[in-house]
Amino acid sequence: QTTKKPPPTPSPLRFSKFFQPNMRILVTGGAGFIGSHLVDKLMENEKNEVIVADNYFTGSKDNLQKWIGHPRFELIRHDVTEPLLVEVDQIYHLACPASPIFYKYNPVKTIKTNVIGTLNMLGLAKRVGARILLTSTSEVYGDPLVHPQPESYWGNVNPIGVRSCYDEGKRVAETLMFDYHRQHGIEIRIARIFNTYGPRMNIDDGRVVSNFIAQALRDEPLTVQHPGTQTRSFCYVSDMVNGLIKLMEGEHTGPINIGNPGEFTMIELAETVKELINPKVEIKMVENTPDDPRQRKPDITKAKELLGWEPKIKLRDGLPLMEEDFRLRLGVSKKI
Ligand code: NAD
Ligand code: UDP
Ligand code: UDP
Repeated sequence: QTTKKPPPTPSPLRFSKFFQPNMRILVTGGAGFIGSHLVDKLMENEKNEVIVADNYFTGSKDNLQKWIGHPRFELIRHDVTEPLLVEVDQIYHLACPASPIFYKYNPVKTIKTNVIGTLNMLGLAKRVGARILLTSTSEVYGDPLVHPQPESYWGNVNPIGVRSCYDEGKRVAETLMFDYHRQHGIEIRIARIFNTYGPRMNIDDGRVVSNFIAQALRDEPLTVQHPGTQTRSFCYVSDMVNGLIKLMEGEHTGPINIGNPGEFTMIELAETVKELINPKVEIKMVENTPDDPRQRKPDITKAKELLGWEPKIKLRDGLPLMEEDFRLRLGVSKKI
Protein backbone atom coordinates (compact mmCIF):
# COMPACT_ATOMS: atom_id res chain seq x y z
CA GLN A 1 0.00 0.00 0.00
CA THR A 2 1.36 3.34 -0.96
CA THR A 3 0.38 6.55 0.73
CA LYS A 4 -0.23 9.35 -1.63
CA LYS A 5 1.85 12.41 -0.90
CA PRO A 6 -0.26 15.51 -0.33
CA PRO A 7 0.25 18.19 -2.96
CA PRO A 8 2.84 20.74 -1.89
CA THR A 9 1.37 23.76 -0.21
CA PRO A 10 1.95 26.85 -2.30
CA SER A 11 4.96 28.61 -0.85
CA PRO A 12 4.39 32.12 0.37
CA LEU A 13 5.93 34.82 -1.77
CA ARG A 14 8.74 35.27 0.77
CA PHE A 15 10.10 31.82 -0.01
CA SER A 16 9.58 31.80 -3.76
CA LYS A 17 12.69 31.65 -5.89
CA PHE A 18 11.88 35.08 -7.26
CA PHE A 19 11.95 36.76 -3.88
CA GLN A 20 15.17 37.12 -1.96
CA PRO A 21 14.51 38.67 1.45
CA ASN A 22 16.70 41.61 2.37
CA MET A 23 19.77 41.02 4.50
CA ARG A 24 19.35 42.80 7.82
CA ILE A 25 22.67 44.01 9.20
CA LEU A 26 23.41 45.50 12.61
CA VAL A 27 26.48 47.74 12.86
CA THR A 28 27.41 48.60 16.46
CA GLY A 29 29.61 51.69 16.63
CA GLY A 30 28.30 52.63 13.17
CA ALA A 31 28.37 56.37 13.96
CA GLY A 32 32.16 56.22 14.37
CA PHE A 33 34.98 56.59 11.90
CA ILE A 34 35.30 53.08 10.41
CA GLY A 35 31.67 52.20 11.18
CA SER A 36 30.20 55.05 9.14
CA HIS A 37 32.33 54.18 6.10
CA LEU A 38 31.23 50.56 6.49
CA VAL A 39 27.58 51.69 6.59
CA ASP A 40 28.09 53.71 3.37
CA LYS A 41 29.42 50.61 1.62
CA LEU A 42 26.70 48.28 2.96
CA MET A 43 23.96 50.74 1.96
CA GLU A 44 25.21 50.67 -1.67
CA ASN A 45 23.67 47.20 -1.91
CA GLU A 46 19.91 47.57 -2.31
CA LYS A 47 19.34 44.18 -0.69
CA ASN A 48 20.81 45.38 2.61
CA GLU A 49 18.90 46.94 5.49
CA VAL A 50 21.24 48.54 8.01
CA ILE A 51 20.61 49.19 11.69
CA VAL A 52 23.19 51.22 13.61
CA ALA A 53 23.41 51.05 17.41
CA ASP A 54 25.70 53.68 18.92
CA ASN A 55 25.93 55.67 22.16
CA TYR A 56 27.75 58.59 20.43
CA PHE A 57 30.68 58.51 22.88
CA THR A 58 33.24 59.04 20.11
CA GLY A 59 30.92 58.88 17.10
CA SER A 60 28.44 61.36 15.71
CA LYS A 61 25.12 61.46 13.86
CA ASP A 62 26.83 63.80 11.38
CA ASN A 63 28.77 60.81 10.04
CA LEU A 64 25.48 59.17 9.04
CA GLN A 65 23.58 62.31 8.02
CA LYS A 66 23.02 61.16 4.44
CA TRP A 67 21.23 57.98 5.55
CA ILE A 68 18.91 59.40 8.20
CA GLY A 69 15.35 58.97 6.93
CA HIS A 70 16.32 56.38 4.30
CA PRO A 71 13.80 53.49 4.27
CA ARG A 72 16.53 50.82 4.51
CA PHE A 73 18.33 52.57 7.40
CA GLU A 74 17.69 52.85 11.13
CA LEU A 75 19.71 54.60 13.84
CA ILE A 76 19.33 53.64 17.50
CA ARG A 77 20.91 55.46 20.45
CA HIS A 78 22.03 52.46 22.42
CA ASP A 79 24.88 51.47 24.72
CA VAL A 80 26.05 47.91 23.97
CA THR A 81 26.71 47.25 27.66
CA GLU A 82 22.89 46.99 27.88
CA PRO A 83 21.01 44.09 26.22
CA LEU A 84 19.67 44.76 22.72
CA LEU A 85 16.69 43.02 21.13
CA VAL A 86 16.58 43.25 17.35
CA GLU A 87 16.14 40.68 14.57
CA VAL A 88 19.14 40.63 12.23
CA ASP A 89 21.11 38.29 9.95
CA GLN A 90 24.58 39.76 10.46
CA ILE A 91 26.28 41.81 13.18
CA TYR A 92 29.37 43.95 12.60
CA HIS A 93 30.42 44.64 16.20
CA LEU A 94 32.62 47.76 16.22
CA ALA A 95 31.35 49.65 19.28
CA CYS A 96 34.39 50.66 21.35
CA PRO A 97 36.46 53.85 21.50
CA ALA A 98 39.65 53.31 19.48
CA SER A 99 41.81 56.33 20.29
CA PRO A 100 44.07 55.96 23.35
CA ILE A 101 42.93 59.37 24.70
CA PHE A 102 39.29 58.24 24.68
CA TYR A 103 39.70 54.64 25.80
CA LYS A 104 41.87 55.77 28.73
CA TYR A 105 39.37 58.51 29.70
CA ASN A 106 37.06 56.01 31.43
CA PRO A 107 38.98 52.71 31.44
CA VAL A 108 36.36 50.79 33.43
CA LYS A 109 33.76 51.74 30.84
CA THR A 110 36.15 50.62 28.07
CA ILE A 111 36.47 47.17 29.68
CA LYS A 112 32.69 46.95 30.12
CA THR A 113 32.16 47.90 26.48
CA ASN A 114 34.59 45.23 25.31
CA VAL A 115 33.48 42.45 27.65
CA ILE A 116 29.79 43.03 28.48
CA GLY A 117 29.16 44.68 25.11
CA THR A 118 30.61 41.70 23.20
CA LEU A 119 28.78 39.24 25.48
CA ASN A 120 25.47 40.97 24.71
CA MET A 121 26.11 40.95 20.97
CA LEU A 122 27.00 37.24 21.16
CA GLY A 123 23.80 36.57 23.14
CA LEU A 124 21.90 38.40 20.41
CA ALA A 125 23.71 36.43 17.67
CA LYS A 126 22.83 33.21 19.50
CA ARG A 127 19.15 34.09 19.91
CA VAL A 128 18.58 35.07 16.27
CA GLY A 129 21.19 32.83 14.58
CA ALA A 130 23.16 35.76 13.15
CA ARG A 131 26.77 35.73 12.00
CA ILE A 132 28.91 38.14 14.05
CA LEU A 133 32.16 39.93 13.18
CA LEU A 134 34.31 41.50 15.91
CA THR A 135 36.71 44.32 15.10
CA SER A 136 39.63 43.32 17.27
CA THR A 137 42.93 45.09 17.08
CA SER A 138 46.66 44.79 16.49
CA GLU A 139 46.90 45.93 20.14
CA VAL A 140 46.29 42.27 21.11
CA TYR A 141 49.97 41.80 20.13
CA GLY A 142 50.96 44.45 22.72
CA ASP A 143 54.58 45.57 22.40
CA PRO A 144 55.37 42.75 19.95
CA LEU A 145 58.54 40.70 20.16
CA VAL A 146 57.84 39.14 16.74
CA HIS A 147 57.94 41.39 13.69
CA PRO A 148 55.91 41.61 11.48
CA GLN A 149 53.04 40.10 13.47
CA PRO A 150 51.32 36.94 12.16
CA GLU A 151 47.98 35.86 13.67
CA SER A 152 49.73 32.91 15.36
CA TYR A 153 51.71 35.28 17.62
CA TRP A 154 50.18 35.41 21.13
CA GLY A 155 51.45 38.85 21.95
CA ASN A 156 53.26 40.71 24.69
CA VAL A 157 50.66 42.68 26.65
CA ASN A 158 50.97 44.35 30.05
CA PRO A 159 47.84 43.15 31.91
CA ILE A 160 47.88 46.01 34.45
CA GLY A 161 49.00 48.99 32.37
CA VAL A 162 47.03 52.05 31.28
CA ARG A 163 46.37 50.55 27.83
CA SER A 164 45.13 47.22 29.23
CA CYS A 165 41.47 48.24 29.39
CA TYR A 166 41.62 48.24 25.60
CA ASP A 167 44.21 45.53 24.81
CA GLU A 168 43.06 43.02 27.39
CA GLY A 169 39.41 44.00 26.79
CA LYS A 170 39.78 43.05 23.12
CA ARG A 171 41.62 39.84 24.07
CA VAL A 172 38.70 38.79 26.30
CA ALA A 173 36.28 39.78 23.52
CA GLU A 174 38.17 37.41 21.16
CA THR A 175 38.00 34.66 23.80
CA LEU A 176 34.24 35.16 24.20
CA MET A 177 33.79 34.95 20.42
CA PHE A 178 35.60 31.60 20.26
CA ASP A 179 33.82 30.21 23.34
CA TYR A 180 30.38 31.08 21.87
CA HIS A 181 31.54 29.51 18.60
CA ARG A 182 32.71 26.27 20.24
CA GLN A 183 29.97 26.02 22.85
CA HIS A 184 26.94 27.33 20.94
CA GLY A 185 27.95 26.97 17.28
CA ILE A 186 27.73 30.72 16.61
CA GLU A 187 29.19 31.79 13.25
CA ILE A 188 32.02 34.17 14.11
CA ARG A 189 34.53 36.34 12.27
CA ILE A 190 37.44 38.17 13.93
CA ALA A 191 39.36 40.97 12.22
CA ARG A 192 42.56 42.24 13.82
CA ILE A 193 42.61 45.80 12.55
CA PHE A 194 45.89 47.72 12.26
CA ASN A 195 46.06 51.55 12.43
CA THR A 196 43.49 52.97 10.04
CA TYR A 197 43.12 56.56 8.81
CA GLY A 198 40.95 58.58 6.47
CA PRO A 199 38.22 61.20 6.18
CA ARG A 200 35.78 61.62 9.09
CA MET A 201 38.30 60.84 11.81
CA ASN A 202 37.57 63.03 14.80
CA ILE A 203 39.73 66.14 14.30
CA ASP A 204 40.81 66.16 17.94
CA ASP A 205 40.72 62.41 18.29
CA GLY A 206 44.33 62.25 19.48
CA ARG A 207 45.54 59.59 17.07
CA VAL A 208 48.72 60.31 15.24
CA VAL A 209 47.54 60.83 11.63
CA SER A 210 44.62 63.08 12.61
CA ASN A 211 46.88 65.01 15.03
CA PHE A 212 49.58 65.65 12.42
CA ILE A 213 47.15 66.70 9.66
CA ALA A 214 45.20 69.02 11.99
CA GLN A 215 48.45 70.49 13.33
CA ALA A 216 49.84 71.04 9.81
CA LEU A 217 46.64 72.83 8.76
CA ARG A 218 46.58 74.98 11.90
CA ASP A 219 50.29 75.92 11.50
CA GLU A 220 51.05 74.25 14.82
CA PRO A 221 54.16 72.08 15.40
CA LEU A 222 53.75 68.37 14.63
CA THR A 223 54.06 66.60 18.00
CA VAL A 224 56.23 63.49 17.58
CA GLN A 225 56.15 61.49 20.79
CA HIS A 226 59.52 60.32 22.05
CA PRO A 227 61.60 58.62 20.61
CA GLY A 228 59.92 58.94 17.19
CA THR A 229 61.58 55.74 15.95
CA GLN A 230 58.52 53.69 16.97
CA THR A 231 56.69 52.39 13.89
CA ARG A 232 53.11 51.93 12.74
CA SER A 233 51.59 50.70 9.46
CA PHE A 234 48.67 52.77 8.18
CA CYS A 235 45.69 51.46 6.24
CA TYR A 236 43.31 53.73 4.32
CA VAL A 237 39.71 53.36 5.46
CA SER A 238 38.19 52.20 2.13
CA ASP A 239 40.69 49.32 1.99
CA MET A 240 39.77 48.46 5.60
CA VAL A 241 36.03 48.39 4.88
CA ASN A 242 36.53 46.13 1.84
CA GLY A 243 38.59 43.76 4.00
CA LEU A 244 35.93 43.63 6.73
CA ILE A 245 33.16 42.83 4.23
CA LYS A 246 35.29 40.13 2.57
CA LEU A 247 35.92 38.57 5.96
CA MET A 248 32.22 38.64 6.90
CA GLU A 249 31.17 37.13 3.56
CA GLY A 250 33.96 34.52 3.47
CA GLU A 251 34.25 31.10 5.09
CA HIS A 252 37.00 31.75 7.63
CA THR A 253 36.52 32.61 11.30
CA GLY A 254 39.90 34.31 11.62
CA PRO A 255 41.44 35.95 13.47
CA ILE A 256 42.76 37.62 10.33
CA ASN A 257 45.00 40.69 10.25
CA ILE A 258 43.55 43.51 8.15
CA GLY A 259 46.03 46.29 7.63
CA ASN A 260 48.57 47.83 5.29
CA PRO A 261 52.12 46.47 5.69
CA GLY A 262 53.72 49.80 4.65
CA GLU A 263 55.65 50.62 7.86
CA PHE A 264 56.78 54.10 8.95
CA THR A 265 58.50 55.62 11.96
CA MET A 266 56.60 58.52 13.54
CA ILE A 267 59.42 60.85 12.42
CA GLU A 268 58.95 59.63 8.82
CA LEU A 269 55.20 60.16 9.10
CA ALA A 270 55.72 63.72 10.40
CA GLU A 271 58.16 64.47 7.56
CA THR A 272 55.72 63.13 4.97
CA VAL A 273 52.83 65.22 6.35
CA LYS A 274 55.11 68.27 6.43
CA GLU A 275 56.23 67.75 2.83
CA LEU A 276 52.72 67.09 1.47
CA ILE A 277 50.65 69.55 3.51
CA ASN A 278 52.71 72.36 5.06
CA PRO A 279 56.48 72.54 4.36
CA LYS A 280 56.85 75.46 6.80
CA VAL A 281 55.57 73.62 9.86
CA GLU A 282 57.91 72.68 12.69
CA ILE A 283 58.40 69.12 14.01
CA LYS A 284 58.62 68.99 17.81
CA MET A 285 59.61 66.07 20.06
CA VAL A 286 57.26 65.64 23.04
CA GLU A 287 56.94 63.18 25.93
CA ASN A 288 55.41 59.77 25.23
CA THR A 289 52.77 57.80 27.18
CA PRO A 290 53.50 54.47 29.01
CA ASP A 291 53.58 51.12 27.21
CA ASP A 292 53.66 52.58 23.70
CA PRO A 293 54.37 49.66 21.31
CA ARG A 294 57.76 50.16 19.64
CA GLN A 295 56.96 48.51 16.32
CA ARG A 296 53.91 47.30 14.49
CA LYS A 297 53.40 45.82 11.02
CA PRO A 298 50.86 43.24 9.91
CA ASP A 299 51.74 39.97 8.25
CA ILE A 300 48.82 39.82 5.79
CA THR A 301 49.58 36.45 4.18
CA LYS A 302 46.31 35.03 5.56
CA ALA A 303 44.17 37.92 4.31
CA LYS A 304 45.72 37.55 0.84
CA GLU A 305 45.36 33.77 0.68
CA LEU A 306 42.04 33.24 2.47
CA LEU A 307 40.15 36.43 1.54
CA GLY A 308 41.88 37.45 -1.69
CA TRP A 309 42.29 40.88 -0.06
CA GLU A 310 45.15 43.33 0.08
CA PRO A 311 45.25 47.10 0.52
CA LYS A 312 45.49 49.28 -2.59
CA ILE A 313 46.01 52.80 -1.26
CA LYS A 314 49.51 53.92 -0.30
CA LEU A 315 50.04 56.40 2.55
CA ARG A 316 51.16 59.15 0.13
CA ASP A 317 47.91 58.74 -1.82
CA GLY A 318 45.63 58.46 1.22
CA LEU A 319 46.97 61.47 3.16
CA PRO A 320 45.80 64.04 0.55
CA LEU A 321 42.27 62.55 0.62
CA MET A 322 42.18 63.01 4.38
CA GLU A 323 43.71 66.49 4.07
CA GLU A 324 40.83 67.53 1.78
CA ASP A 325 38.24 66.42 4.36
CA PHE A 326 40.09 68.13 7.23
CA ARG A 327 40.41 71.38 5.23
CA LEU A 328 36.66 71.43 4.68
CA ARG A 329 35.86 70.77 8.34
CA LEU A 330 38.49 73.21 9.68
CA GLY A 331 37.64 75.84 7.07
CA VAL A 332 41.26 76.11 5.86
CA SER A 333 41.52 76.46 2.10
CA LYS A 334 44.57 75.44 0.09
CA LYS A 335 46.98 78.28 -0.75
CA ILE A 336 47.91 78.18 -4.41
P1 NAD B 1 35.55 55.36 16.72
O1 NAD B 1 35.85 55.78 18.12
O2 NAD B 1 35.49 56.40 15.66
O3 NAD B 1 34.19 54.53 16.67
C1 NAD B 1 33.71 53.76 17.72
C2 NAD B 1 32.20 53.94 17.79
O4 NAD B 1 31.69 53.13 18.86
C3 NAD B 1 31.78 55.38 18.09
O5 NAD B 1 30.74 55.77 17.23
C4 NAD B 1 31.32 55.31 19.54
O6 NAD B 1 30.36 56.30 19.85
C5 NAD B 1 30.78 53.90 19.63
N1 NAD B 1 30.77 53.36 20.99
C6 NAD B 1 31.77 53.37 21.91
N2 NAD B 1 31.37 52.76 23.04
C7 NAD B 1 30.09 52.35 22.83
C8 NAD B 1 29.14 51.67 23.62
N3 NAD B 1 29.40 51.29 24.87
N4 NAD B 1 27.92 51.42 23.08
C9 NAD B 1 27.61 51.82 21.83
N5 NAD B 1 28.48 52.46 21.04
C10 NAD B 1 29.70 52.72 21.53
O7 NAD B 1 36.64 54.26 16.36
P2 NAD B 1 36.99 53.54 14.99
O8 NAD B 1 38.35 53.95 14.62
O9 NAD B 1 35.91 53.71 14.01
O10 NAD B 1 37.06 52.03 15.47
C11 NAD B 1 36.01 51.13 15.25
C12 NAD B 1 36.40 49.74 15.75
O11 NAD B 1 37.60 49.30 15.13
C13 NAD B 1 36.66 49.68 17.26
O12 NAD B 1 36.14 48.47 17.75
C14 NAD B 1 38.16 49.68 17.36
O13 NAD B 1 38.59 49.03 18.52
C15 NAD B 1 38.55 48.93 16.10
N6 NAD B 1 39.91 49.29 15.67
C16 NAD B 1 40.15 50.50 15.08
C17 NAD B 1 41.45 50.83 14.71
C18 NAD B 1 41.77 52.13 14.03
O14 NAD B 1 42.92 52.37 13.71
N7 NAD B 1 40.81 52.99 13.75
C19 NAD B 1 42.48 49.92 14.95
C20 NAD B 1 42.20 48.71 15.56
C21 NAD B 1 40.90 48.40 15.91
N1 UDP C 1 21.25 39.35 24.94
C1 UDP C 1 20.94 40.48 24.20
N2 UDP C 1 20.07 40.36 23.17
C2 UDP C 1 19.49 39.17 22.81
C3 UDP C 1 19.82 38.01 23.56
C4 UDP C 1 20.73 38.14 24.60
O1 UDP C 1 21.45 41.56 24.46
O2 UDP C 1 18.71 39.16 21.87
C5 UDP C 1 22.19 39.47 26.07
C6 UDP C 1 21.61 38.91 27.35
O3 UDP C 1 21.01 39.98 28.07
C7 UDP C 1 22.81 38.34 28.08
C8 UDP C 1 23.88 38.16 27.02
O4 UDP C 1 23.30 38.65 25.80
O5 UDP C 1 23.30 39.25 29.05
C9 UDP C 1 24.30 36.74 26.83
O6 UDP C 1 23.18 36.00 26.45
P1 UDP C 1 23.12 34.41 26.57
O7 UDP C 1 21.78 33.97 26.13
O8 UDP C 1 24.28 33.80 25.88
O9 UDP C 1 23.39 34.16 28.11
P2 UDP C 1 22.42 34.19 29.36
O10 UDP C 1 21.33 35.19 29.10
O11 UDP C 1 21.90 32.81 29.43
O12 UDP C 1 23.31 34.57 30.48
N1 UDP D 1 52.00 59.70 18.38
C1 UDP D 1 52.80 60.81 18.10
N2 UDP D 1 52.24 62.04 18.13
C2 UDP D 1 50.92 62.25 18.42
C3 UDP D 1 50.10 61.11 18.68
C4 UDP D 1 50.69 59.86 18.66
O1 UDP D 1 54.00 60.67 17.83
O2 UDP D 1 50.48 63.41 18.41
C5 UDP D 1 52.63 58.35 18.30
C6 UDP D 1 52.36 57.45 19.50
O3 UDP D 1 53.37 57.60 20.47
C7 UDP D 1 52.40 56.06 18.86
C8 UDP D 1 51.95 56.30 17.43
O4 UDP D 1 52.03 57.70 17.22
O5 UDP D 1 53.71 55.59 18.85
C9 UDP D 1 50.52 55.83 17.15
O6 UDP D 1 49.67 56.39 18.12
P1 UDP D 1 48.07 56.37 17.98
O7 UDP D 1 47.54 56.97 19.24
O8 UDP D 1 47.68 56.98 16.69
O9 UDP D 1 47.68 54.83 17.86
P2 UDP D 1 48.15 53.49 18.62
O10 UDP D 1 48.71 52.67 17.54
O11 UDP D 1 49.19 53.82 19.65
O12 UDP D 1 46.90 52.97 19.21
